[in-house]
Amino acid sequence: MTPGTLFVVAAPSGAGKSTLVNALLEREPQISLSISHTTRPPRPGEQYGRHYFFVERPDFENEIAEGIFLEHAEVHGNLYGTSRTVVEEKLVAGADVLLEIDWQGARQVRQGKPDCVSVFILPPSRTELERRLRGRNSDAPDVIERRLFNSREEIAHAHEFDYIIVNDRFEDALADLQAIVRAVRLRAPLEALRHHELIQELIAP
Ligand code: GDP
Ligand code: ADP
Ligand code: 5GP
Repeated sequence: MTPGTLFVVAAPSGAGKSTLVNALLEREPQISLSISHTTRPPRPGEQYGRHYFFVERPDFENEIAEGIFLEHAEVHGNLYGTSRTVVEEKLVAGADVLLEIDWQGARQVRQGKPDCVSVFILPPSRTELERRLRGRNSDAPDVIERRLFNSREEIAHAHEFDYIIVNDRFEDALADLQAIVRAVRLRAPLEALRHHELIQELIAP
């Protein structure tokens, strides 16, 4: 059994990360999305266990101490973290896993799992980022201001990622994301294993 690939996707809030990832998962249903733990209160319509595992800060801090997180970080004043066991069990079973996390978490994941594939999503302009954040209608004005302010720091880390996609026209950005997934699947070490018999047959005298 060849292990799955760990994909890491980050972006400033409002760039379209979740929308792109959800569209990718519709086309590539074999990729499994990791559900994070967070101390952020749920937005209207968000469900426990589907969008996040919403927890209180003291419980989150206990979980950090227990070492359950593959990575965790404070983002926009809330704690977010990825459960280690869920991700590792899936990867070992051969499934691809995708994390939607911030740059600090991406850095921690890269250290522990250097063969992960990381993608950063950029908005086409500051004006458009602001328009999308406001247009999403999911956050209070002060929360939006904070996210816009923090977008500069998030974007300053874009160069640390393996790939960068500008989410201007949605369909183009989605095609770019799919192209990355396809290219990763075609990488030689895994393909050589998968096509072992074919290669043997082709090189036989
Ligand atoms: P979004 O900006 O609309 O995606 O808002 P969210 O509140 O869902 O996420 C806030 C930030 O936390 C984003 O930068 C996410 O990528 C990040 N984030 C979400 N889950 C995790 C996680 O498990 N670990 C880390 N490190 N960051 C996370
Ligand atoms: P993030 O997860 O990065 O915070 P979302 O996926 O919630 O961002 O997207 C923010 C808003 O922008 C949503 O209302 C979404 O429908 C919209 N959006 C995403 N991509 C595009 C795009 N290419 N063009 C226009 N609007 C977009
Ligand atoms: P939101 O609160 O809008 O859902 O997410 C805000 C930010 O938190 C996003 O940039 C998102 O990527 C990040 N985030 C969500 N889950 C995690 C996580 O598990 N770990 C880290 N490090 N960041 C996360």
